[in-house]
Amino acid sequence: MIAEPRTWHNGRMMKANAILITGGGRGIGAAISLLCAKTGWDLVINYSQDREAAEAVAEQARAWGRQAWVVQADVSDEAQVLAMFAQIDAQSLRLAGLVNNAGVVAPLARLEDMSVARWQKLFGVNVIGSLLCAREAAKRMSTKHGGQGGVIVNMSSRAAALGSPGIYVDYAASKGAIDTLTLGLARELIGEGIRVNAVRPGLIDTEIHASGGMAHLLDEAVTGVPIRRMGTPDEVAQAVLWLLSEASSYTVGSFIDVGGGR
Ligand code: NAP
Repeated sequence: MIAEPRTWHNGRMMKANAILITGGGRGIGAAISLLCAKTGWDLVINYSQDREAAEAVAEQARAWGRQAWVVQADVSDEAQVLAMFAQIDAQSLRLAGLVNNAGVVAPLARLEDMSVARWQKLFGVNVIGSLLCAREAAKRMSTKHGGQGGVIVNMSSRAAALGSPGIYVDYAASKGAIDTLTLGLARELIGEGIRVNAVRPGLIDTEIHASGGMAHLLDEAVTGVPIRRMGTPDEVAQAVLWLLSEASSYTVGSFIDVGGGR
């Protein structure tokens, strides 16, 4: 369900110019949501499980004068994604952009110990989820379908180039798919007013590492990062915001690596 938005301002109905951020309530997604709000965008904050976190981000955005909707959907589930976009359609807002941020890792493992169920979950969220949300956003933003254009930013990873041997080659492969999707979709949609680009973060300080059982390896991992520290979610959000903005108007099918030199 969409939480009650602030659709009224000074006694009149406002048409929001909103960015949909999948997984926008926690980690890098939360930093993107907050920076979007600071920059003047209204928000649709998608979450899967943690409604409280998404609501807290929305509350902050509203305190800054933005409109913010919170929408639950598991992005790997087509019916839930369709329901999310139906709720967006039911609001008085123009979807101006999509940040395909929602993503998961799986426990550290070598290939021989990985199951098909693990791959289905990983590729379901990271790849199918991004495809589904891009498809539905493009239908609404494309000038071919009567939209006014827009921007899609995909969340890839430096893992796409590094391959993550010994820890999660499947996760890295899912992000490789995001890179290829970015290249193709950018060229497919630019003639319809939609710019598509991607950001490839390196080692960023969020809860995702604990969810993959990698937290105890972070100190060692940082020694392989030339800048010798983890990045912050806000440092990734800054790159996303640039790609969402008109400042990047000639940037199409490109990648910004936010990896501290790694
Ligand atoms: P995080 O802190 O674990 O947050 C993950 C976010 O994704 C949460 O908001 C979560 O929603 C959402 N999510 C997970 N599964 C979902 C699903 N099925 N449907 C909808 N939302 C779902 O992770 P993060 O580090 O911020 O990662 C964000 C993105 O950056 C991911 O795509 C990740 O692969 C990428 N990335 C991260 C790093 C890093 O070092 N942190 C590096 C490279 C790339 P809930 O809050 O509802 O659980």
